[in-house]
Amino acid sequence: MIKPDAVKNGHIGAILNDIIAGGFKIVAMKYTRLSAEKAGEFYAIHKERPFFGELVDFMSSGPIVAAILEKDNAIEDFRKLIGNTDPAKADAGTIRNKYAKSIDANAIHGSDSDANAEIEGNFYFSAFERF
Ligand code: ATP
Ligand code: MG
Repeated sequence: MIKPDAVKNGHIGAILNDIIAGGFKIVAMKYTRLSAEKAGEFYAIHKERPFFGELVDFMSSGPIVAAILEKDNAIEDFRKLIGNTDPAKADAGTIRNKYAKSIDANAIHGSDSDANAEIEGNFYFSAFERF
């Protein structure tokens, strides 16, 4: 998911270029916006964390790009491509290093396991929207 900060700052095209250059195939994609309720549902795993309220406010603050991506070893390779959660700690050349400014507005989300990728893919897309 390309987050509201990166969309607002004009980085959709550059981020998609990096994703494709990284060897990922786009299986599904949409430009949409989360309500606060849907953002809370997406990040329900973090509901006890102190930053949950800000995370929900931020993720529902503007449009996002949701996508399902496919690659061998996709989870680990995508985490490498996006870099550390905190852009200040993200390696040079990673998406968060290049396009994000803070830990709460960090440009992009990546699933953290195959099981969560399945859940998050189903959150945004039906079977008929995958190619
Ligand atoms: P994401 O799940 O968005 O890909 P991540 O897996 O790198 O990010 P998580 O630990 O899952 O990191 O945290 C989810 C999101 O919550 C982060 O992307 C960040 O925007 C926000 N977040 C995490 N830790 C903090 C923090 N200490 N302060 C503020 N926001 C935070
Ligand atoms: Mg995460």
